[in-house]
Amino acid sequence: MSAKYIFVTGGVVSSLGKGLAAASIGCLLESRGLKVNLMKFDPYLNVDPGTMSPFQHGEVFVTDDGAETDLDLGHYERFTHAHLSRENNLTTGRIYEQIILKERRGDYLGKTVQVIPHVTNEIKNAMRKVASHGADVNIIEIGGTVGDIESLPFLEAIRQMRQELGRENTCFVHVTLVPWIGAAQELKTKPTQHSVKELLSIGIQADILLCRTDRALPREMKAKIAAFCNVEERAVVTARDVGSIYECPLAFAEEGVDALALKYLHMDAGEPRMDAWREIVRRAYNPADTVSIGIVGKYVEYEDSYKSLKEALVHGALAHNLKLSVTWIEAEGLEMADPLDRSYEAQLAGFDGILVPGGFGKRGIEGMLNAIRYARVHQVPYFGICLGMQTACIEFARNVCGLRQANSSEFDPAAEHRIIYKLRELLGVEEMGGTMRLGAWDCVLEPGSLAQKAYGATEISERHRHRYEFNREYEALLTGGGLRLTGTTPDATYVEIVEIPDHPFFLGCQFHPEFKSKPLEPHPLFRDFVAASYRNRQQRTVAQPASAEAANKA
Ligand code: GLN
Repeated sequence: MSAKYIFVTGGVVSSLGKGLAAASIGCLLESRGLKVNLMKFDPYLNVDPGTMSPFQHGEVFVTDDGAETDLDLGHYERFTHAHLSRENNLTTGRIYEQIILKERRGDYLGKTVQVIPHVTNEIKNAMRKVASHGADVNIIEIGGTVGDIESLPFLEAIRQMRQELGRENTCFVHVTLVPWIGAAQELKTKPTQHSVKELLSIGIQADILLCRTDRALPREMKAKIAAFCNVEERAVVTARDVGSIYECPLAFAEEGVDALALKYLHMDAGEPRMDAWREIVRRAYNPADTVSIGIVGKYVEYEDSYKSLKEALVHGALAHNLKLSVTWIEAEGLEMADPLDRSYEAQLAGFDGILVPGGFGKRGIEGMLNAIRYARVHQVPYFGICLGMQTACIEFARNVCGLRQANSSEFDPAAEHRIIYKLRELLGVEEMGGTMRLGAWDCVLEPGSLAQKAYGATEISERHRHRYEFNREYEALLTGGGLRLTGTTPDATYVEIVEIPDHPFFLGCQFHPEFKSKPLEPHPLFRDFVAASYRNRQQRTVAQPASAEAANKA
C-alpha cells in the first residue's frame, strides 16, 4: 500500500491552532488503531528555532535526538505516540542549507538550481523520508498562512504530491476562520471563501475545512461554505473554541473529521477509542479542588515560551483531579537592593508550590535565588528545572554551606566558586548547537530518592538543552550540607538530579522533564510535585482555622 498523507494548511490569519488540529487528527486516527507520524514545515529562513528569541518564537521543543524544533511538535507528542526526530521539523532555512551544500559539492552537475524543481524536490524527499518509517498515515503541517510568499514552495510541493500519489492517498485539510461580527450579529464566511480560493489558485482544492469559530456553525452556513468552496457539506467542520485543548480530538470526532479523512484516503480502521481522553476532559471540567503553583522566571509574560512546562503541570494536576492555577512571577521583581530585605516573600506567600523553569542569561537570577530560599526555608514544595536546578545548587551553597561567592560561570565568568560551570567546554566537546548538551541522556537514580520513587525505576532517559553543569568539585561541600545528588549519568560524569531530604518536596533536575509529559501519561516528577503542593495546601487550610481559633482565644 502506498503511503497516505494528510496535509494541513492554514488560512485567513495565523494562530488558528493548525498544530493542535494536526495533533488532534493524529490522536483520533491513532485511537482507531492506525500508526501515525507527524511533520511540520516552517517557512522562515532560520535553520532551526534554537537560536530564536522566545519572544519571537515561543518554546523550543527538544526531541530525543536533540533537535531544537517548533513547539507544535510538542503538541504532536502530547497527542500521539509518534516518535519525532530532527526529520520531523524542517524550515526553509534548513532546506536551503541542504541544497546549497549539494550545489557546492557539485551534485547538480552544473544545472541551474531553482525553486521548482530543486527546492520542491527537497521538500518532497523530506516528506517521503518521514513516510518511509511505515506509519499508516503521515500528517504534514505547513506553517504560515496561505498567501504568504514564504510558504509557496511548500504548497507547490504538496500540490505535486497529490499529482504524483493520487487523490486516494492524499487529503487536504485547511484550517480557516469564520468570525462572529458583533455589530452585524452574524458569522461571516467571506474570509474562508477567499482563503480557499487563494489555495485553489495555486492548484490545491481543499477537501476538509476546519472552521475556527466561537460557536457552532448552523446547517445553512455549512451548506453555503460547502457550495462556495467546492467541498462536501459534511466536510465543513465546526472547530469551535474549547476550554481545554484536550477536548479538540473529541470535538473533531463529534464532527466526523477522522471518518471523513479515512474515506478520502480510502482506508478502513477500527472505531475510535477515546474513553481515556473523555475522562481527561471530564476531569478538566470537574476538578475536585485547585492547586496553585508560582512559576518564577524570565519571559514569563510570554506563556508560549513555556508551553510544555505549563502542559506538564496541567497533566500533573489532572492526574489528581485538580485544577491548576498558575501564577507567572517575573524573577527580577523579587530582587532586593538590601540582601536582608525579605519583603519579596509577600509575593511568594500563598502558593502551594514554587517552580523555577529553564532559562538563559543572568537577568533575574538573584530573584530566583530568593524564591528558592523561601521555598526551602518555608517547606514549600520546590521543583527546579535545568536553570532551576542550577540556581537551587547555588542557593544551597550560599545560604546553607556558607559559600557566599557561589555562582555559575554563566552569570559571572570570573566567579570564585563556580558551583555550576561549563564542563563540556573544559572537556573540549564541540558539536552542533554550540556546546549545548542536547536531547536524550540516560540517568541512574539513587534508590529511595524522591526521583526514584516517582519514576518507580532506577534507570531513566530525559531530554536536555543546556550548556552548564553541576561542578563535582563542590560535591563534598554540598552533600556535607545535606544536599543529595540522586541522579547522574551512568558514567557519573554529569549530575542530573539534586534533592533536599527533610523537606516535603525539593527537587532540581538538569533535564527538561516537561518535554515527555502527556495528558494520558503525566510525567512522574510533575505528578508528584503537584501532589506535594496539594498536600501543602491541605495542611495550610487545616492549620489556619486552628490558629484563628487560637488567636480568638488569646
Ligand atoms: N542557562 C543554563 C545552561 O545553559 C540553563 C539552561 C536551561 O535552563 N535550559 O546550562
